[in-house]
Amino acid sequence: MTQFAKLALEIITHMFSLMYLDELMAFASPCRTHRVWVMQYLNRRKDNYLIQFVSNPSTLLDALRITSSVISGSLALQFLLPAVNCSWGAIDMDIYSTQSGYETILINLLLDGYTMVCNRYSNYYTSFAINRVIKLVKGNRSIDIIVSQTNNVLLPILHFHSTVVMNYLSADSFFSAYPMLTIEYRGLINRSPYNTNVRSTARALAKYQYRGFSVQSRATHWDKEDDSDRNHRCESDLYCPRNIRATLDRGCARYCFEQPGIIASEETADVCNKSVVWQLGGEDCQYEDLRWYTYVHTLL
Ligand SMILES: [Zn+2]
Repeated sequence: MTQFAKLALEIITHMFSLMYLDELMAFASPCRTHRVWVMQYLNRRKDNYLIQFVSNPSTLLDALRITSSVISGSLALQFLLPAVNCSWGAIDMDIYSTQSGYETILINLLLDGYTMVCNRYSNYYTSFAINRVIKLVKGNRSIDIIVSQTNNVLLPILHFHSTVVMNYLSADSFFSAYPMLTIEYRGLINRSPYNTNVRSTARALAKYQYRGFSVQSRATHWDKEDDSDRNHRCESDLYCPRNIRATLDRGCARYCFEQPGIIASEETADVCNKSVVWQLGGEDCQYEDLRWYTYVHTLL
């Protein structure tokens, strides 16, 4: 029996609220009881986020599951960090879906009382990664459904303005492209063709800086703040823009929250299993004038 078994649920929940997601998953791994506690805690946390937006979180999670859609933005970022560190409240939610799946999500939200206020095609966003954006509101809550140009929702996510928000929460899993950098409250600006609106990108970056993130344009920026052992190791550190990354590499965090009784078919398999390669855009670490431009390619 685990040594934590005699603790009250409130104490265990408080202990979990102090832990990063990787620490929670490490705590869960060696013991079935720990795993059950952690999964219950994560599912409660997920429901607590979603209940702020929808009447029935499990209905939305079912819709996400069958359409391989995911939640990204602030809400997914909060999931990576300890709950006690996330004092910022989310009033909007971003759902990333595919052209074949977004209508299911849309109908689900319309039935929940949301009103569609905007349906813009990608030329507004000048992004080849995004087909359209549908904006819905209900009271003081708003949800954007961002429809990917391909059948992979990671394409727009890896074009985001910075590494801080390259995360997603699906019905049964969590993914982060730069988990180690992000839990240090650091982020690199991504030079992507998606980020052509300088003003809105600056606003988005300021939001995360206000929340305590150091968002920089060059990977070597933090060297002068750290001791020499932690200086940027060019081409070795996985956040170096010179590196070509893949969603299945060791630099990504991929946590699957197993749900008993649900077996994903090949068609509805979790997006976390889909392999994508990318290169972060931004300033080169060594040559002042050299710039990298975001490259994202779907392998499957
Ligand atoms: Zn480098």
